[in-house]
Amino acid sequence: MRPAGRADTASLYFTYPQFAAPEGAARAGLARDVAVAIVGAGPVGMVAALTLAQQGIASVLIEAKDSFNDGSRAICIARQSYAILDSLGVVAPFLEKSLGWTTGRSFYRGRQILEFHMPDGPEEKFRPMYNLEQQFIEAYLWQAIEANPLIETRWQSRLEGIEIDEAGARLTVADPEGSYSFHASWVLAADGARSAVRSQLGLRLQGQNFEGRYVIADVQMEHDYPTIRRALFDPACRPGATVLIHRQPDNIWRIDYQLGDDEDPAEAVREDVVRDSVAAVLAEIGHAGPWELEWWSIYSANTLALEDYRKGPVIFIGDSAHIVPIFGVRGLNNGIADAHNIGWKLGHVLAGKAGVALIDSYPPERRGATLDVFANASKSARFMTPPTRGWQILRDAALGLALTHPFAGELANPRQMTPFTYAESPAVLPDDPGFAAGPAPGAAMIEARVGAGFLSDRLARGGFTLVCFDPALARAIEALPGAPAVACLPWPSAAAERLGAGQNAAYLLRPDLHVGARWQAATAETVRAALDKLCFREV
Ligand SMILES: Cc1cc2nc3c(=O)[nH]c(=O)nc-3n(C[C@H](O)[C@H](O)[C@H](O)COP(=O)(O)OP(=O)(O)OC[C@H]3O[C@@H](n4cnc5c(N)ncnc54)[C@H](O)[C@@H]3O)c2cc1C
Repeated sequence: MRPAGRADTASLYFTYPQFAAPEGAARAGLARDVAVAIVGAGPVGMVAALTLAQQGIASVLIEAKDSFNDGSRAICIARQSYAILDSLGVVAPFLEKSLGWTTGRSFYRGRQILEFHMPDGPEEKFRPMYNLEQQFIEAYLWQAIEANPLIETRWQSRLEGIEIDEAGARLTVADPEGSYSFHASWVLAADGARSAVRSQLGLRLQGQNFEGRYVIADVQMEHDYPTIRRALFDPACRPGATVLIHRQPDNIWRIDYQLGDDEDPAEAVREDVVRDSVAAVLAEIGHAGPWELEWWSIYSANTLALEDYRKGPVIFIGDSAHIVPIFGVRGLNNGIADAHNIGWKLGHVLAGKAGVALIDSYPPERRGATLDVFANASKSARFMTPPTRGWQILRDAALGLALTHPFAGELANPRQMTPFTYAESPAVLPDDPGFAAGPAPGAAMIEARVGAGFLSDRLARGGFTLVCFDPALARAIEALPGAPAVACLPWPSAAAERLGAGQNAAYLLRPDLHVGARWQAATAETVRAALDKLCFREV
């Protein structure tokens, strides 16, 4: 919601572009068959389109609205998402605009009980977290899409029907000129929490709703506090409740405050009530200057997911597949990983580089990641908003103890997101027990300094990479037909040590930067056979 007198998209800091529906000559091709349709040009659909395009695969992106998402949504983007954006070649504007951060502070009844620092250091190319408003995330993805001839975007085009057949699915779309249908061999459903694709196919999200409601308010003000996440437990401005405060670019501050059991949600979102509540929080944090309300909404946490992320040729990614509590900042971050995961797999299959069975590894890998998020997010949701009197007593006891015993403050550590390890996946190979360190198959590759740059700078964009230390092995791999890219690193080196790698060791990385296989004694033959297996190629 925006203050009275301001239109839905009348933002204080962002100018919404307006995109036209297909018109003129572009309409002639609307009904043609396509290989991939992506429903929803939110951030997840856009990342999927860019990932497919990186694989050389064209897609049609269908979006109901005429602009980016309005209001304020995701603000915290994790390191792993920046690594994905980097591998897609689009991270530069994100880095320029966003605010990187490592530190959070928690306060109980006005006194600091915890300062946590997320893992960071000179070995890392990206900070653990960046704050950036979702509008900019979408705008920067759009810059890349607009310039990419492999992606056809149809704005103001709402999916109204979908029917699966033996060759894919037929989609019915309505736009301002009327309605038409077209056939797609594959459909990526990226149409968000209220997915039309999901409901058209009779699928339902399953899971849990949490107690407790929050008002999410964005405020513009000049406020002199670094980019450090603040959590206020039981503050004087909201006794018994929790308040979160985040700095964003353009002097925008995100203030999330919990409503008390006695507060009527409908009343709580009235503009005058929001203004009073925000003013009380700002007084508590010592902001005496002017401020303006940008936007607000009401929110309660859910852990909901589809039982299966695939129905035949239709694959669910992002919020259409899962809804997670915002406090773990995993909704969009997970959606970006979904899109990247299915993007390289579908791209490899359609480009003839992998067998179609590779697609089957998407649902278990990414649903596994969602269930892991649920486990973590449920813990933090219970801490932020204790669901019962018993939880409340336990939580308050821990917070009270933390005033005098710092170890108890750790309980207030939100444990920010780390990438999920696909340990059980059919698209990773068993580990070599000879490793005492480094990421196991299924885990995301770690970052390391290599010369003046980073290991990730040496990895293929969109393809497999063999990271090795023996120049003779590197040459043998490069001579293979359909060879992966090779990053041959010095040995011994700090990177080799972090990877637990002997001189003949090698890591085979998938295009999504997860480890597919590793060996202490790699040969060209083992690497070639592993590539065939990871790509489900018949040999
Ligand atoms: C207040 C708030 C704060 C959040 N903070 C964070 C955070 O800090 N970090 C984080 O990782 N996540 C956060 N999230 C979650 C994040 O915003 C979502 O996970 C993310 O937007 C999901 O992206 P998506 O592309 O899957 O869906 P959406 O962003 O919802 O995009 C779906 C798109 O599909 C389009 N669409 C829908 N139906 C149709 C149809 N029938 N035909 C065609 N198009 C259609 C919609 O118009 C929309 O553009 C937050 C969410 C909220 C509400």
